[in-house]
Amino acid sequence: MDLDNLQQSSNVEDRRGSGGGGGVALGGGLGIGGVIIAVIFGLISGQNPLQILGSLTGGSSSQSYNSSSQLPQDDARAVEISRVLKSTEQQWTKIFAASNRQYREPGLVLYNGTTDTVGCGGAQAEVGPFYCPGDRKIYIDLRFFDQLSSTAGQNDFARAYVIAHEVAHHIQNELGVLDQVNARRQQSDERTSNALSVRVELQADCLAGIWANKAQNSLQLTQTDIREGLAAASSVGDDTLQREAGRRVVSDNFTHGSSAQRQRWFTKGFQGGSVQGCDTFKTNQL
Ligand SMILES: [Zn+2]
Repeated sequence: MDLDNLQQSSNVEDRRGSGGGGGVALGGGLGIGGVIIAVIFGLISGQNPLQILGSLTGGSSSQSYNSSSQLPQDDARAVEISRVLKSTEQQWTKIFAASNRQYREPGLVLYNGTTDTVGCGGAQAEVGPFYCPGDRKIYIDLRFFDQLSSTAGQNDFARAYVIAHEVAHHIQNELGVLDQVNARRQQSDERTSNALSVRVELQADCLAGIWANKAQNSLQLTQTDIREGLAAASSVGDDTLQREAGRRVVSDNFTHGSSAQRQRWFTKGFQGGSVQGCDTFKTNQL
């Protein structure tokens, strides 16, 4: 994979080093009591409660963010992520335009340890990268890649796949898929809810494959890159994760799909290159 010809995205917020690591996440350590206390304190002191929350949650008021243009150039991982994000913006803009739709680009927040989100509680590095529909931002602590199984985390295309998967959740948000699924999940038992979650996740893998299909020439993707992406997809399969954690493999508890399923849907997107081919909700054959 060759990212050298790509610009960086202008949608990266760098919250690393803004106190996040030692700070307290809204909804995490701070808790609802802390929120109420902060709001009451704000009312008494005449300060804007949101500003106080910002300072409590590790100084995450918007002034303290660095824009991506200020990402240190020797910060190779961050620059890489920013360029991958740019590539997803280019490809999804074209795909949306082909359906006469305008693509609204998601944000991407780099943070250390904890940070706050709008609508998704506190971001915690332990849960890995995620997309928050409430603020349309992807949250990632780059140290996640060090924890990803050594082979997957050290490959540049494997890291790109992780970003493309989170961007895919943004696509699902833009297309209304997340809203529909969440409405159904609220009326479902846990088993059905998990099964719906698997369909959402496999669709995201498929959409990530579409990005890889469209970007393969501009990024000079090779067979090895695709193999690395498949290895990464496999390494985050529910059966593999359960086995690695020393647990029994119970498919009813799957929320992302098995390793084989994740590879299959990424491949489907990569080979087919069409959004219609990614309808994981209309098939019994996951
Ligand atoms: Zn996902």
